[in-house]
Parts: sequence; structure tokens; C-alpha cells
Amino acid sequence: MVELFDVIIVGGGPAGLAAGLYAARMDLRSVLVDRGPLGGQLHNTELIEDYPGIETILGPELALKMGDHARKFGLDAREYEPVTSVEVDGEERVVKLDSGGELRAPAVIMAAGGLPKKLEVPGEVELAGRGVSYCAVCDGAFFKNEVLAVVGGGDAALEEGDFLTRYASRVHIIHRRDQFRAQPILQDRARANKKIDFILDAHVKQIEGNGKVKAIKYDVRGEEFELPVGGVFIFIGFNPNSDILKVHVEHDAEGYLITGPDMKTSVEGIWAVGDVRAQLTKQIATAVGDGTTAAVSASAFVSSVRDRERARARASA
Ligand code: NAP
Repeated sequence: MVELFDVIIVGGGPAGLAAGLYAARMDLRSVLVDRGPLGGQLHNTELIEDYPGIETILGPELALKMGDHARKFGLDAREYEPVTSVEVDGEERVVKLDSGGELRAPAVIMAAGGLPKKLEVPGEVELAGRGVSYCAVCDGAFFKNEVLAVVGGGDAALEEGDFLTRYASRVHIIHRRDQFRAQPILQDRARANKKIDFILDAHVKQIEGNGKVKAIKYDVRGEEFELPVGGVFIFIGFNPNSDILKVHVEHDAEGYLITGPDMKTSVEGIWAVGDVRAQLTKQIATAVGDGTTAAVSASAFVSSVRDRERARARASA
């Protein structure tokens, strides 16, 4: 079945939901599709303390609020609806769905986020879901009183490492350099946590186990170590979900889509917002800003397309 809209939003995290809220409020026929529940990465974060105006809120609670808010203004938000491709067909942008449907509109806002990066060491794939995890909120409770390794040195590694000490008896944060890129407040919090210690300049070589994680092997300046652990949580960044685009859109070396200040990509009628876009940081506040900018810009574009269509109809009448 082919359905026609003014704007299609691919991805229902904070960026997509903000775009959907604004697009729907501007009376555009707007649809949002997400392969999972609305909220995206909000579901992988426990406490949010850096969204202005809300001192603390649970990630899934903010996800629910953002989804309800956008729907209240008329956004057709569809969950568990994976997208297989985003294509261009003349003046129409086409979003093909795994379920077999097809959505068409002059404007598509790519808000598809990303997937956790893999360490690509032996044992990671074999032991995924058997002690190897990419989500502390989802899996932390399975590791009561266990010793855990957290790999990474960014905001996610330090924040989630701290969170995991609610369950774990000890958390070793293993980082490949001796400097963290995480925000100082998150570093201070982790350093103050007596259950956390740091293994620096360490390169993970292997995750060991037989049906369940038993140990992690790493190398510090050529010397090899083996640390017995019950679980390994990997937080080494994201790979953007830009490969569903079947038209060439300019991107950086890591696949993040390049946009102008109005969130327009190199392809007319396609915008990119949030974690799929090349930018300085990935915060909820910046994602929401991106979504807002894209919706306003897409609204002006859709109006000009509709004006052109009306003029063509008048000329041929
Ligand atoms: P990130 O900031 O890209 O940090 C990734 C970390 O993993 C870096 O320390 C990096 O080391 C390390 N790393 C990358 N590839 C590696 C590899 N192959 N082997 C070992 N280590 C590797 O990723 P993130 O922490 O997931 O955060 C992603 C974005 O979300 C950031 O913009 C962050 O600000 C945001 N975020 C914010 C919050 C918050 O504000 N509370 C919470 C979570 C995430 P190097 O430092 O050596 O490059």
C-alpha cells in the first residue's frame, strides 16, 4: 500500500519526536516510523539530569512524555515499523517499509540514530547476550554481586559504569588511553565511587567464556593481562544508521550525514537530525533542537512544492 504525506520522519528518538511535534503543529500531514518503541536511546539511559527544565527524569519516562506530546498534536507515530530504504523518485521521497508498505512525501527527515559500535575482538559476538552487553539499563540487573568490565572512556562508559555499581560488586573501567573524553562531572562521579577502578592505556584483546563470559584479556604497553569478570559492557560510541539511504547523501568518514545549519543534507528534500548527523555532541537537548530546525525548514520546502503543484494544475486546466 502506498500512503502519501507532507513529511516522513524516520526514527523516533528525541530528534525525530521533536521534528514530529513541530511538523504536526504546523499542520503538515506527518508520519514517523521507528523499528522499536518511541524514544530511541532514551530507553538505554536510566536517569537524565541534563535536559534543561527537568532536574531528573527516567529515560523511558521522558520517551513516553515526548511520544504522547507529539501524538497529541496529530503526529501519526508508528512503532515497530522497520524501514528498509529511503529513496528518491522525481519530486517524491520514498520510504519503503519492512512490512511491505511504502510512504511518499516531498520531505523526509532522517532521525534514525545509530547502533552501538562493536569492539571487534574474539568472543564479543559469540558471547553477546551471554555476558556481553551494550545496555546497562537493559541488562545491569542480571549481574547482582558480579565483577564487571566496562569498556570505553566517553560519557556513556563513565555514566553507565557508575550506574552498574548498583548491582555489581566491582566495576573495572577499561580505557585505551590515560585521558577520558567524558564530561568532568561524570569523571568526578566515577572517581568518587569506591566500587569503580580504572585500567588505563589498555587494549582489549579477547572476551573469554564458554556459554557465559568468564574473563577479559587486555594488553597494557605490550604486557598481557587476564581479568576474571561475569560481564563486559561495551560503550565505545555509535555507528550511524545512514545505510538505509539508497541515494548518495554527503557523509563523513564514519557515515554521519553532513548538513547545513537548517539540517538540509546534500539531497533536496532530505534532512538529517540527531545522532545520525555529523556534529559536535549527541545530547537530548541538541537532538531536540535539530528536530525543531528541520521541521521548520521542511515546512517551508513543502509549502513551495505544494505551490508549484497548484501552479502546474492551474496551467494544465
Ligand atoms: P564517545 O563519546 O564517542 O566515546 C567513545 C569512547 O570509546 C572513547 O573514549 C573512545 O576512546 C572509546 N573507543 C572508541 N572506539 C574504541 C575501540 N575500538 N576500542 C576501545 N575504545 C574505543 O561515545 P559515547 O560515550 O557512547 O557517547 C556518544 C555520545 O553520546 C557523545 O556525544 C556523548 O556526549 C553522548 N552521551 C551523553 C551522555 C550525557 O550527557 N549524560 C551520556 C551518554 C552519552 P578515545 O577517547 O581514545 O577516542
